[in-house]
Amino acid sequence: MITVEGLNKTYRTGHVEVHALKDVSFTVAEGELLAVKGRSGSGKTTLLNLIGGLDTPESGRVVVGEWEVSTLGEAALQRMRRETVGFVFQSFGLIPVLSAAENVGVALRLTRTPAREREERVRLLLSLVGLADQARQRPYELSGGQQQRVAIARALAHKPRVLIADEPTGQLDSETAQSVMQLIRAVVRDQGVTTVVATHDPLLIRHADRVIELSDGALVPRA
Ligand code: ADP
Ligand code: MG
Repeated sequence: MITVEGLNKTYRTGHVEVHALKDVSFTVAEGELLAVKGRSGSGKTTLLNLIGGLDTPESGRVVVGEWEVSTLGEAALQRMRRETVGFVFQSFGLIPVLSAAENVGVALRLTRTPAREREERVRLLLSLVGLADQARQRPYELSGGQQQRVAIARALAHKPRVLIADEPTGQLDSETAQSVMQLIRAVVRDQGVTTVVATHDPLLIRHADRVIELSDGALVPRA
């Protein structure tokens, strides 16, 4: 489902160059849950952004489904993201003035899904993440774990084939982190969505089908 081949990315700020990814190659099978581990600064976010089409590589290939992501222009990247990818971030990223249900429905408004169908899908998603009773609450009326559940429901709203989660439990206490990771695990199983999760939490990594590790931008060979 995902192929990454010889990926390189260098950031330049003034005279300083950071080689954030060095010749990274791997594949992710359809329906697989892949964890990317590595210390802060090892290149996890850079890698996820390149897979999700939020950034473009310096060299190398990224293929997601039928999309040759690394060659797409901005308009095609936008379409790819809208149709194929769901994102979950550490900071939840919910819109504060909208209710949980409205936050989940945002993506469906963008795709002009009819209101009846949208409401149905939002209801289904909120119950999938265990928040059927919180539909009308605003983000500030929800706990961190609940907010991340809403964010996961939102990421799945348009039925993406790929889910990208960048340290989704980084702001949660360890018990809540476990339950959010279990939710991601269940979602991957039920919806068959191919998922890449960046995390440095060893307790979460064991929920993954497979783990790769980055160190200073390079893939660490498996022991
Ligand atoms: P991680 O997510 O594993 O913490 P990142 O992918 O965010 O790692 O960062 C990898 C390296 O690239 C780090 O050295 C970081 O400082 C650098 N970096 C990340 N984003 C930028 C940017 N926009 N400009 C310059 N350097 C960056
Ligand atoms: Mg990061």
